[in-house]
Amino acid sequence: MVKRRFGVSISGELADRLDELAKALEVDRSNLVEAALRSMVGEYAHHLVSHECSALIALICSEEASIGDIVGGFSDIKITHLHDHKEGRCNQIIIAIGQSTRIAELYAKLNKIRKCKAKYIALHEEP
Ligand SMILES: [Zn+2]
Ligand SMILES: [Zn+2]
Repeated sequence: MVKRRFGVSISGELADRLDELAKALEVDRSNLVEAALRSMVGEYAHHLVSHECSALIALICSEEASIGDIVGGFSDIKITHLHDHKEGRCNQIIIAIGQSTRIAELYAKLNKIRKCKAKYIALHEEP
């Protein structure tokens, strides 16, 4: 595959961490950046290309987050929901199976909850 060079600017702190990780993994920086970008772009494909999707959404909150109302608006998606607490954090796992555009909407809504961080993990290959 033909490689293309292009310039990007990132913070010095991130560049240092990148170099550290490249050294620990014994790969060169370009290969590491390419792998990270490939993974990120692949994840976005789940949001941009309409398909039958299965995904795990992890929601970690520093205070109690009630998501019943949000999830209730997505009865067209098959949802498995786990909810637990540890060390003052509210931890929730959602496994969603259904139309990718709807799962993306659900993820966007969960990501907007105050004091929460949502992470989307696709459970199948890039569409
Ligand atoms: Zn998908
Ligand atoms: Zn909770």
